[in-house]
Amino acid sequence: MLTVTTPPDISTVGIVGGSLGGLFHAVALTELGLDVHVWERSTGRPDDRGAGIVLQPSVAWFLSEFCGVDADQVSVPVTHRQFFTRTGNVRIMPMRQQMISWGTIYKALRDTLPAERYHDGQPVTALTPTPAAATLHLGSTAHAVDLAIVADGSASLHRGLVAPESASRYAGYVAYRGVIDEADLPQELAACFRDRFSFYDGDRTQFLCYFIPGDFGTTAPGHRRMNWVWYVRADAPELEHITTDRNGIGHGLSLPPGLIAPQVRTDLLTRARSTLPQPLRELVEHTREPFLQAILDARVTRMRNDRLLLTGDAAFVVRPHTAASAEKAAADAITLFHALRQAQSADAALRAWEQLRLAEGAAIYGQGVGLGHRLGLSGMEAPVSTVGRAG
Ligand SMILES: Cc1cc2nc3c(=O)[nH]c(=O)nc-3n(C[C@H](O)[C@H](O)[C@H](O)COP(=O)(O)OP(=O)(O)OC[C@H]3O[C@@H](n4cnc5c(N)ncnc54)[C@H](O)[C@@H]3O)c2cc1C
Repeated sequence: MLTVTTPPDISTVGIVGGSLGGLFHAVALTELGLDVHVWERSTGRPDDRGAGIVLQPSVAWFLSEFCGVDADQVSVPVTHRQFFTRTGNVRIMPMRQQMISWGTIYKALRDTLPAERYHDGQPVTALTPTPAAATLHLGSTAHAVDLAIVADGSASLHRGLVAPESASRYAGYVAYRGVIDEADLPQELAACFRDRFSFYDGDRTQFLCYFIPGDFGTTAPGHRRMNWVWYVRADAPELEHITTDRNGIGHGLSLPPGLIAPQVRTDLLTRARSTLPQPLRELVEHTREPFLQAILDARVTRMRNDRLLLTGDAAFVVRPHTAASAEKAAADAITLFHALRQAQSADAALRAWEQLRLAEGAAIYGQGVGLGHRLGLSGMEAPVSTVGRAG
């Protein structure tokens, strides 16, 4: 049992954004005995698109320590990495990792946080920092809290209150993604990927895939899902074209499953046939509803303004090659938990937290940009304000 002593000047916490970043903080700070509420603008259970996440140590620790979930039971192990060549040859090296899905982590966090502490369909329209406190505004209602945590993601509305100098940038490429039920894959094809984290590094492109849990977190072979990600360069007009859906509606920086325009899908299949080794090409062909996300960069030089904290993607948007975004959000929350647990004063705790998390965020950010560069994906970066306008 952890000994818990929180600084006397924090008892109420308001969290803006109820995705993984906000939930990690809500669960950890509730465990500290604080009075925590989360406000999430979207309604109902978010569509996780079945997407996969490489399980990293802080997330595994968090699930076990705070949610009572054994990560081994809800993740799919891989024992090796395999690297395809264009002609389909493979080079294999041992490397153990565990793959989990976004939805599995989300469910564990929601199941842990008392339901009455999560308010969905309630956007935080403004935040007002006040000395040693903050007020969250939800339309005409206002909630005063001792600490406000901004976890509103990469397009953060409130980032500027803490770090006015920072803005997101489009990294010049997108991640096409696909999720396929294992049962829908030909057995021979599925066997190519069993126990493997697979990669293909082509000319200024990268494809990767791995199995993740299926419905209800099941990890039984035959009931899992194949998750693939394909990084492809796209300049601003191309981004606008591929994120415009089958009804002519522009979605800006992403395109949800089920909406891809027929011509964009045809072009994706044509590109797969001319670019990818055969087993990977077949995965794209078997995907009913490919979707995509623009890759963004954002970094901050401050994560704290008095009693406002920036966390998760609202602070640093790191490239997915690092497989570290959920990990970073979990580590933000774990570090805050320990800082507050041991602190004599809230200010000292929050200062120490900011120092640690800024250093870590900057390091992962740099690593992600470097990986993108090494993969040849750089060269078409642009301010977010100039790309992918939603129609
Ligand atoms: C291609 C791709 C692959 C990825 N792969 C991985 C991976 O392998 N490993 C990994 O760790 N991560 C991966 N990620 C990233 C990961 O999903 C997130 O970075 C992580 O979950 C942290 O997100 P967050 O909670 O800070 O922000 P988000 O998930 O963006 O959540 C922000 C939340 O805030 C809400 N919100 C916004 N504004 C308001 C408002 N005004 N009021 C109330 N609510 C608001 C939003 O509705 C949303 O729910 C990947 C991302 C991409 C694009």
